Amino acid sequence: MPRIAEESIQRVADASDIVEIIGSYFPLKRAGTNFRALCPFHKEKSPSFHVNPSRQSFHCFGCGAGGGVFRFVMDYEHVDFVSAIRRLAQRAGIALTEENDPHEESRRGQRSRLLELHKETAAWFHLNLLRNQEAEHSRVYLRKRGLTKEIAIAWQLGYAPAGWEVFRDWALGKGFLHEELLQSGLLSAREGDTQGGYDRFRDRLMFPIRNDYGEVVGFSGRILNDSQKEAKYVNSPETPIFSKGRVLFGLDKSKRPLIDAGEAIVMEGQIDLISAFEHGVTHVVAPQGTAFTTEQARLLRRFVERVILCFDADTAGQNAVEKSLPALFTAGIEVRVAHLPQGEDPDSLIRGKGVKAFQERLAQAKDFFEHTIQRGIEESGGNFSHREKASVARRLGGYLALLPEAALRETTTSYVASRLGLSVAALQEAGRNHPIARPDDAALPPQQPSSSHLKKISASTKMICRLAILSPEVRAWLETQTSPPLTELDPELSLLEEIIPPLRNIEEPSPSTLISLLPPNLQLLASGWELERISSEPLTSVQSAIRGLRLNILKKQRDSLSIELRNPGLTSQKIMALQKEILDLQPLINELSTPVT
Ligand SMILES: [Zn+2]
Repeated sequence: MPRIAEESIQRVADASDIVEIIGSYFPLKRAGTNFRALCPFHKEKSPSFHVNPSRQSFHCFGCGAGGGVFRFVMDYEHVDFVSAIRRLAQRAGIALTEENDPHEESRRGQRSRLLELHKETAAWFHLNLLRNQEAEHSRVYLRKRGLTKEIAIAWQLGYAPAGWEVFRDWALGKGFLHEELLQSGLLSAREGDTQGGYDRFRDRLMFPIRNDYGEVVGFSGRILNDSQKEAKYVNSPETPIFSKGRVLFGLDKSKRPLIDAGEAIVMEGQIDLISAFEHGVTHVVAPQGTAFTTEQARLLRRFVERVILCFDADTAGQNAVEKSLPALFTAGIEVRVAHLPQGEDPDSLIRGKGVKAFQERLAQAKDFFEHTIQRGIEESGGNFSHREKASVARRLGGYLALLPEAALRETTTSYVASRLGLSVAALQEAGRNHPIARPDDAALPPQQPSSSHLKKISASTKMICRLAILSPEVRAWLETQTSPPLTELDPELSLLEEIIPPLRNIEEPSPSTLISLLPPNLQLLASGWELERISSEPLTSVQSAIRGLRLNILKKQRDSLSIELRNPGLTSQKIMALQKEILDLQPLINELSTPVT
């Protein structure tokens, strides 16, 4: 990971007022000296998300999210620490000093070159669509599908010219290297020809694929002449900046609407998504390809608790529904399925019958299990036989087993059992006999940064950590306390190892710098603390807390010696040794018990 110089971090933190930054994402309401809003990290009806300007921290009393301004940007934008700093630095107009190792530097250099190439290529494709004579058929196609020029501009749709080397020559002329074009996948290599290569996208309507913060990382190209014997859609291959299974098309535009709605409408195609979005149904995403991956499901889970799968009514669409379920269920997402009329997709429905008709379908979307039962009944033509019930039970049993939460699994299982007129045991057996594979990497990650272990910290250790954050004097003294190591007094004091080093070279940090320099778990902890209030004698308080911890240890030692002494089988020699040990401890205990004056 690249290191950003600490003074840079400090400057960025000082220039990034947390109220202003969070307020730029969504409105904050003043409440006394604090600010309040509906929490963006969990769904709620009354605001428990607080922003404290003097502490420069945020804290949600509902879900426990919290930290400083960097933490907020990391969680809200789903980026790492360094990217969060870069973003805030850019916003504040601060040039960062970065200390990089050469390997990292070249990797990042490669990444930024590829991003630059994609950005310029998207603009070039777009210009081709708007201006190029050759692109007339793609403009006609867009008009036919109700996608206006304004929409094409908003989504930066483009046109990749026909011909095998048009893109290549343009990009080389722009100063990109042949090697970079191959890395980007925009140029395909001919076997045995390392200097040549041909354009991957030829005579196609181009959709830039953006990551969740809006950078173009790949393309999807749609064929314009369906009679051609080529794939309808061609996507960018996996590259250092693009992994199909990790990107959700549309997410860069729909983040906020997703949080507001608490649910995501999942569509198959880019055109369906754009059409819905432009008709005001904005809480939409599309997995690239047909089924959800674990990574996509986890990404989505940070914004919503429920999805409505809105796939085509054809068999391929229904297969995509079922293939998406393992990833969605294991991520803890509730799945509903919208039933579209046969032969319709979201786009055709919206354009044919209006967005209202589409929204009605969404409102009628049923929980996946109920949806499957109803389809079973419909397909049986009103005669839902035992055989058909058993077949539905076999299909659903495996999915029930994937529900991660026991309570939900049980209630859903008994619901499905009663709908099918089966016993719970029979349904569970059907599930065991027809297991659905969990996604490979579905070892479930914690959904929220876990603060549970931090809650167990004793009050005095908490106080020591808090004052260590606030006072350089306290930090300096604590660093001298090496024998016995402080962790012998309380293992949780190992937190100090995470607190002291990052703060070592910072003089007079602001509260926001302090909190943002800490590791995430501590940020969470510290966001609940009164960081602005510091006792007048922080060092004295810490010293007496440490004395208290020492005293506890000594008393425990003495008590266990006394217990041992009561053992009837001891030799007189052993008794004397134990008594001596107790006597030796006593003056230490006495000394620590006397308050310092
Ligand atoms: Zn919350």
